[in-house]
Amino acid sequence: MAEYEFDLFVIGAGSGGVRAARMAAALGMKVAVAEDRYMGGTCVNVGCVPKKLFVYASGYSESFEDAKAYGWENSGVNFDWPTLRDNNAKEISRLNGIYRNLLDNSGVTVIDGRARIVDPNCVVVNEVKFTAERILVATGGWPFIPDIPGKEFVVTSNEVFSMEEFPQRVLVVGGGYIAVEFAGIFAGLGADTHLSYRRDLFLRGFDRDVRNFVRDEMVKKGVDLKFNHKVSAIEKLQDGSLLVHAEDGSSLNVDMVLYATGRVANTGGLGLEQQGVVLHKDGTISVDDNFRTNVHSIYALGDVTGEPQLTPVALAEAMALVKHWRTGNTAEIDYNNIPTAVFCQPNIGTVGLSEEEARDSGIPVAIFRSEFRPMRHTVSGNSERTLMKLVVDTNTDRVIGVHMVGDDAGEIIQGIAIALKAGATKKTFDETIGIHPTAAEEFVTMR
Ligand code: FAD
Ligand code: NDP
Repeated sequence: MAEYEFDLFVIGAGSGGVRAARMAAALGMKVAVAEDRYMGGTCVNVGCVPKKLFVYASGYSESFEDAKAYGWENSGVNFDWPTLRDNNAKEISRLNGIYRNLLDNSGVTVIDGRARIVDPNCVVVNEVKFTAERILVATGGWPFIPDIPGKEFVVTSNEVFSMEEFPQRVLVVGGGYIAVEFAGIFAGLGADTHLSYRRDLFLRGFDRDVRNFVRDEMVKKGVDLKFNHKVSAIEKLQDGSLLVHAEDGSSLNVDMVLYATGRVANTGGLGLEQQGVVLHKDGTISVDDNFRTNVHSIYALGDVTGEPQLTPVALAEAMALVKHWRTGNTAEIDYNNIPTAVFCQPNIGTVGLSEEEARDSGIPVAIFRSEFRPMRHTVSGNSERTLMKLVVDTNTDRVIGVHMVGDDAGEIIQGIAIALKAGATKKTFDETIGIHPTAAEEFVTMR
């Protein structure tokens, strides 16, 4: 039998890689992790965590305004970009240390450097060879920028957290999670914010009511939404600003263009093709139900294997894989009813089917919908509204979709997701006593 230095060699210390490495080490496996950029991966360094901190920062501008009607005098408040940027960097570096300690304390060998697979059981990092019985690819994704003239002048979510200066005029290109979240962040922090999306309404795949509602709320908050708008070229002017040209002949002068047009699998230089690992057309790695590629010693999970690209999904996959190794049973993971939030203002929280998905699948549905001004704003005068919606299968009375746009929607929908997982019916919702006064109680009082 071949002898290997490690039982498992993980490539990528992101959400999925760190969890798999720690759990495998806890089982007594000899584990190594190679990481070439940052401990904790995308989520910790240039994703969920800094994004949420920036969302908090951007919310203060409205809170200061809202506070006035409650008696708070706060004129003359100013936003200081370097303070936010540097405090964010400090927090991320604290988290980097925590991730490294977690791995060290689990007995995992951490190797700093970019890994390349040179043999189904051998990885090279910094020109040193490491052999392993199993190799796990958890290398995540990387921002995709379409090939347009001037693409070298744009930034992505990778660079946006550490910008030297705060841009006064911003164009965000894209209509998915990142575009919508960052349009909200920049508008809240005081930039003149525009969003360019190539079709007629952003957030494709979300419930239509949610998409319309968020559009209206963003317009109220001053974001200039340019739908059916396609950027054709970007020109750098002498004053350093950018002139963005669109296919309709219009142009827009801004200080920064943020591209949020999706992410591609981070597999460059990994040596997968040379090992004969099968990739999907979009470059993501093809795996079976046990996260195994067609090359039997090579596994993959997380963003590098495709959607849904969410941290809790990468974590769940890592735990399911290690459990599969422990028990020999098929990896157990349920991709149905994955709750998700978009941290725009106000937030979107959603779980289950949209009304359109349910109808398109031929499910007979009843819709319960409520739209109201949140209590906080009855006094503040802020015109922000909240939307809540239930999609119910009338054959079974099961609640099959729950959608919310409003303060703390992500927090509220996490609890509702448990109810959906447990198979809650509309009757169960109706029989549940509300918590008063909250917005969440509306979910159990809608008739
Ligand atoms: P990653 O976390 O990307 O980790 C991959 C790691 O592999 C990286 O550290 C990379 O440096 C390393 N690596 C790559 N190639 C090599 C190599 N050859 N050798 C060594 N190391 C290598 N998800 C949520 O659930 N909620 C959110 O609010 C959220 N917000 C987001 C905001 C932004 C701006 C972005 C970009 C993403 C966000 N996500 C969010 C998605 C989330 O970050 C990802 O789904 C998650 O990080 C995927 O984990 P992963 O382990 O698959 O990959
Ligand atoms: P998304 O896939 O969510 O959205 C990409 C957007 O870019 C879509 O609107 C798409 O349009 C548009 N687009 C794609 N290609 C082009 C092109 N060539 N020209 C113009 N527009 C284009 O990707 P994001 O980058 O926003 O985020 C990546 C992933 O990260 C998300 O899918 C999500 O899984 C995860 N994430 C999660 C967050 C959360 O949980 N809160 C926050 C941020 C990211 P179209 O609709 O026409 O395809």
